[in-house]
Amino acid sequence: MNYDSETCIGVLGGGQLGRMLALEARRMGFRVLKWTGGDVSGAARLADHILPAPFSCKDTLEQFIDQVDVATVEFENIPSELLETISNRIPLMPGVKAVSICQNRELEKAFLASHSIPTADFRIVESAEELTEALQNISGDVILKTVESGYDGKGQMMVRDEPNSRDAEEIWASFSGGRAIVEQRIDLAAEISVMVVRAQDGSTVTYDPAENEHKNHILDLSIVPARLPQALLDDARVIATKVAVELDYIGVLGVEFFLDQQGHLLVNEMAPRPHNSAHHTLDACECSQFEQQLRVICNLPLGSTKLLKPAVMWNLLGDIWPDETTPPDWSPILKTPGAKLHLYGKLHAKPRRKMGHVTFTGDTIEQALERAHTCIATFS
Ligand code: ADP
Ligand code: MG
Repeated sequence: MNYDSETCIGVLGGGQLGRMLALEARRMGFRVLKWTGGDVSGAARLADHILPAPFSCKDTLEQFIDQVDVATVEFENIPSELLETISNRIPLMPGVKAVSICQNRELEKAFLASHSIPTADFRIVESAEELTEALQNISGDVILKTVESGYDGKGQMMVRDEPNSRDAEEIWASFSGGRAIVEQRIDLAAEISVMVVRAQDGSTVTYDPAENEHKNHILDLSIVPARLPQALLDDARVIATKVAVELDYIGVLGVEFFLDQQGHLLVNEMAPRPHNSAHHTLDACECSQFEQQLRVICNLPLGSTKLLKPAVMWNLLGDIWPDETTPPDWSPILKTPGAKLHLYGKLHAKPRRKMGHVTFTGDTIEQALERAHTCIATFS
């Protein structure tokens, strides 16, 4: 593909990942058109043009296809039929098959099993009876998850291994998520994620794995480099690369791992797009995950994934906003050396909503963590 000032990147989705992609695209001289599916928030608005119509709108489909040179997704829950239609007419990366697998927990687990990649024990259930059976067969606490449309802990419910909390009828009625997956709850030693970038010619690079800390099933902190044995981190990179190759994936892929108490790496899930745990790549790496996505889809050489300085990313959730439209006082962050504030321009803060993030860098990971923790304490 020729790279000139007329090149237009088509983005499906209207969230912060597309916003950060658009910022990098602007810097590199690309034009960006977003089909947001309805979103008109500040995050969606950062683009040369936005098409806010629902994804079912046929006229918008034609406009999108006419105007863009290449398309990508910034959110995996885009209807697969739409992705199929788009990819039959213009280049779409990542491809439909890979996105369809990553957007459905059942297909995702089946894919991983077929390539002998370890995951948490699981069962697929569609009724209270099947749930009863699954609870009998999986030992310990479990997590019930919708097969489709879950993100940031949405569509998940923990079921403890206690006699009173295991009434399958009641759980199924209150969950009512349709087809679901019952997953063994792993006693986590740590969580890590690896970003793989796979080019159109099949070459790959990976970023340093991030060590991730979640609160209420939502990412809170990502710590890079991860404070875990090198051999284990190398294994995670190898497994993540294998996932990208077997998916025949083109673009930036996030692979999330659980590390259990026995030291086993289990793949949790994949994200067919830039990932929250790699936002530090904007401030702390030679080439960010967003720039890599642009490079891949425009068939440009891959960038260096080198980490330039240790970094800690903290997610800013709507919970720290005093009210829906009033942001907190950012002074503690702005006064911290090595801290970079990113806000997504969303107009309304809600609990659990991702509003922005901060990257704390330091000369050592201990220094970056110390800066992060001192600063975070002032917001609680
Ligand atoms: P999402 O699509 O919302 O990111 P995940 O399946 O990654 O969904 O779950 C979010 C977080 O919830 C995980 O990163 C982890 O902290 C916790 N979690 C989910 N499933 C399990 C599990 N089987 N065992 C232990 N923790 C889990
Ligand atoms: Mg996840």
